[in-house]
Amino acid sequence: MEYRDLKKQYQVLKPRIDSAIEEVCTSAAFIGGQPVKELEKELAEYVGVRHCVTCANGTDALQLALMAWGIGSGDVVFVPDFTYFSSGEVVSAVGATPIFVDVDRRTYNIDPEKLDRAISEVEKDGKYSAKAVVAVDLFGLPADFAKIQDICKKHKLLLLEDGAQGFGGELNGKKACSFGDISTTSFFPAKPVGCYGDGGAIFTNNDEWDALLRSYAVHGKGSSKYDNIRIGMNSRLDTIQAAILRIKLNAFANTELTDVNKVAALYTAKFEEVKVEKKGVVLPFVPENYLSSWAQYTVQLPDGFGKEGREKLQANLKEQDIPAMIYYLKPMHNQLAFEGTDSASADCPVTEELCDKVLSLPLDPYKTEEDVNQVVDAVMSFLGNV
Ligand SMILES: *Cc1c(COP(=O)(O)O)cnc(C)c1O
Repeated sequence: MEYRDLKKQYQVLKPRIDSAIEEVCTSAAFIGGQPVKELEKELAEYVGVRHCVTCANGTDALQLALMAWGIGSGDVVFVPDFTYFSSGEVVSAVGATPIFVDVDRRTYNIDPEKLDRAISEVEKDGKYSAKAVVAVDLFGLPADFAKIQDICKKHKLLLLEDGAQGFGGELNGKKACSFGDISTTSFFPAKPVGCYGDGGAIFTNNDEWDALLRSYAVHGKGSSKYDNIRIGMNSRLDTIQAAILRIKLNAFANTELTDVNKVAALYTAKFEEVKVEKKGVVLPFVPENYLSSWAQYTVQLPDGFGKEGREKLQANLKEQDIPAMIYYLKPMHNQLAFEGTDSASADCPVTEELCDKVLSLPLDPYKTEEDVNQVVDAVMSFLGNV
């Protein structure tokens, strides 16, 4: 079984994708051009914001946002402790300091109360200037933006939504990647909408930031690429990737987002049917008024199972051709890259616990009921034998 079956997806979309690639090759316009413009328009429309700027990957997207805001040395940006490395890496890359905040144990997203407290502490301490919050839509579920937006207003902080995994998700009928002052996503192949290489996008309703982002993404360009008015990056989305993404976005909006939700619902129904929660397993939680884009289907293994128990389960599943992954093994504040910095001293007990307990199961819009049954049966028979 594939963890995320991109081969099957390609077989379904092959005629359209192949002809889109061929069209770009025939035109020999490999950078910029109509497919990139059209995609940006379609993405902005889908998300419901005024501007979309595509770029080379989801990490650059985050960094470009921080650059447009002029965040740098002496500034603090608050970041969840339980996320992919990029969410915090970009803060250090622009010379600022990430302060890691613990997450909610059910939603896996940044804990608003703990965020509020962490901000107050930085303000009181006075060593740094608090500037922004990165809120991640982890595993496809939008963060608690009603609360987070209020907290950002109260403390006069900018909100950056890292929607690399959240694209397609919803909160109160609004799409993910519309909740930040600037929001970003990634088109890495395994994300909810992936391209055939690297890609990313930035979303905002602010005209001035849109212009700044377009400049920073292309060598700090002024009137042209050869008129350079600030130090920027070289971060563009290839035309071939844009052409592929137009087809992927269409499939995602028409069928895949609905289908992946059906597969996730099947998992939950099957697990509930065999009473997995009695064994101490915690299933994913989607609060009312939320829609997940299901970047991952992540369960928490029972208390006392430990990292070794998880390793054994993972190996046992692998023997049955079922790949399972661990997102994430390590809290951000424990990453060696932050050792000896103020970012390393976070107090995040929930994240530490989750890192030892989580396991993500194979999921994509093309999984069948038989696939789901096979995974659920394998997990249950392992749990029954320990
Ligand atoms: C994948 C990911 C990124 C980075 O995206 P790339 O396109 O791989 O650079 C950033 N944040 C989160 C939460 C991600 O999952």
